[in-house]
Amino acid sequence: MTETPFIVAIDGPAGSGKSSVSKEVARRLGFGYLDTGAAYRALAWHVLDRGADTADEDAVLAAAADFPFAQGLDPDERRVLVGDADVTAAIREPRVSGAVSGVARVPAVRVQVNDAFRRIVADAAYPAVVVEGRDITTVVAPDAPVRILLTAAPEIRAARRAGELEGHDAGAVAAALHRRDATDSAVVDFLTAAPGVEVVDSSDLDFNQTIDAVIAVIRRAASPQQQGADHG
Ligand code: C5P
Repeated sequence: MTETPFIVAIDGPAGSGKSSVSKEVARRLGFGYLDTGAAYRALAWHVLDRGADTADEDAVLAAAADFPFAQGLDPDERRVLVGDADVTAAIREPRVSGAVSGVARVPAVRVQVNDAFRRIVADAAYPAVVVEGRDITTVVAPDAPVRILLTAAPEIRAARRAGELEGHDAGAVAAALHRRDATDSAVVDFLTAAPGVEVVDSSDLDFNQTIDAVIAVIRRAASPQQQGADHG
């Protein structure tokens, strides 16, 4: 592929629905889908697998230097590998969610994974890629033609996340999510839209309405002249 794919950058906090929404938007539009949180989660899993602690920056850097990570762009094939280990399910476990901020706050790790994200997108066999995370609209792809901040009220995000993690105590899930938000927001401000970033607030929208709202933003950006026509 010679041309750089069209990038749809979507940021948002945990439980905003950004993963499921981004994946479904990619599916409906025939785009690739890159879940950047999966790379941070896989690295956190890798640190824990080596018997280390993600609070130990040297251990994180050592794990990052030897991190055979693989992730595809197909929204229907979401396997995440670290070497031969299929970590797709393991990286969603609370023990990884609780450890991931430790790797995400190391600046050298962010540089490394961001380079990898840009390479994956540049090599994509898709006309466009939905890239989803915390700093995609601001750091990874600040020039993307579509930049969206997907938000939702904190109590709604906590309830959604508790619904996803069956069998776990809802109060504990909510507390862990708020803790992770607080730690993460010290590294990246993903609760405020940067200039030029469109906010989609999903607090009062169901899944399909959120998808429609995101697709509407993409369509407007893809054909700016249409916007004038719609209003005229
Ligand atoms: O999106 P998800 O909840 O899977 O992200 C897991 C973690 O990865 C976040 O809590 C954050 O620490 C980190 N992350 C990040 N920057 C991104 C994506 C995720 O720091 N672009």
